[in-house]
Amino acid sequence: MKLKIVKGTRDLYDDAIVPFLYLEKKARHIFELYGYSEIRTPIFERTDLFAHGVGQDTDIVGKEMFLLEDRRGRSLALRPEATASVVRSVITGNMMKQNNQKRLFYMGPMFRYEQPQKGRFRQFFQIGAELFGVATPDADLELLLMLRHYFKSIQLDNVSFQLNTIGCHKSDCRPAFKEKLVTYLKENQDAFCENCQQRIESNPLRVLDCKNESCIALTENAPRIYEHVCDDCRDHFNELESLLELHQVEYTKNFRLVRGLDYYSGTVFEVYSDNLGAQNAVGGGGRYDRLFELYGAKSIPAFGFALGLDRLALLTKPVLPDKKVAFVICNDRAKATEIVAKCREAEWVCHYDPFQSSMKSQFRQANKSSANLVLVLGEDELKTGQISVKNMQTGEQVSIKQEEVSAYLQK
Ligand code: AMP
Repeated sequence: MKLKIVKGTRDLYDDAIVPFLYLEKKARHIFELYGYSEIRTPIFERTDLFAHGVGQDTDIVGKEMFLLEDRRGRSLALRPEATASVVRSVITGNMMKQNNQKRLFYMGPMFRYEQPQKGRFRQFFQIGAELFGVATPDADLELLLMLRHYFKSIQLDNVSFQLNTIGCHKSDCRPAFKEKLVTYLKENQDAFCENCQQRIESNPLRVLDCKNESCIALTENAPRIYEHVCDDCRDHFNELESLLELHQVEYTKNFRLVRGLDYYSGTVFEVYSDNLGAQNAVGGGGRYDRLFELYGAKSIPAFGFALGLDRLALLTKPVLPDKKVAFVICNDRAKATEIVAKCREAEWVCHYDPFQSSMKSQFRQANKSSANLVLVLGEDELKTGQISVKNMQTGEQVSIKQEEVSAYLQK
């Protein structure tokens, strides 16, 4: 049998996992400041949860889902995103019964059968947050401010917010705009790429975010949806824009931004980085006031976002607190384990050589390690009850009594 990792997946350890742990820790800290608490939902759900919510015709559901069958032949899917699961949990857990607002965040792996490349994997990690129960632009603002705060906390520069509104389902809003757009697109129908020619019929808004250069040129003068939404959607968006101005949030309006998921309505946004190459979206989100209804539940307004951790990990340099690391060199097993235990009780990361190699080899290991202090108990020290302590940064060396080691390390 040939052992091989599955295409598009990675093992994260040593240096590679450091930015992930850092980004997750910072997210927990910042999101909790805004009153969000963590939710962990299963990584697989019934397939129809995604088909129904995200949309059967979207790429994520139609082409990219990892499907499995349980032993009774029921179709399950590895989650391609987490919003559907969180909403399912809010409904099945009856969370809105006691609350009129709910703030949740999540982090974990998502699965999409995409062509792997730099910044794109089949198992990737997201951090996301959802705010339920706030219909006004205050929700949109809160999450955008929280994101900006998070980016600042991880010292992420060169990210830009792009915003759009894709209107609602009222007949004078998105449906009326779609008609206008289709009329415009049909003037040049044959000139669009094959995909877009189909989309003109099935999902005309998606023609706007096609990456094909000739399609981009053909839609340069297409009607802007934010100029054609209904009065309610326009007021909402205008109000959000003034709130963003008040808080000096920089963004650009992008009429091509439509998001690839069916459940969005109203505000949508994405965050891009200048330093990522082709896969330059670090996150995105928006309002999805209709999703609860789609699941047959009482309507609840909602706003959320998801960030791609794998991409953020490429952009951030973790600022880690200095760790206190000691290395104990000693050929007496009982003594070595006693001193090591004391180091750990004093909250020092402590390494030693449990195989009791030669002193010379232990010194070599200590030099290679990241230890700040090396504690040596050679023959002389064992006889006299002392420890020679070497500070690896300054080179300074002192001798302390073995029973004073805990006090010394706590200094
Ligand atoms: P989406 O909701 O699809 O826009 O995903 C939100 C974010 O997740 C994106 O902006 C990416 O940063 C990240 N993401 C989505 N798909 C992948 C993938 N296949 N590999 C790595 N990151 C991804």
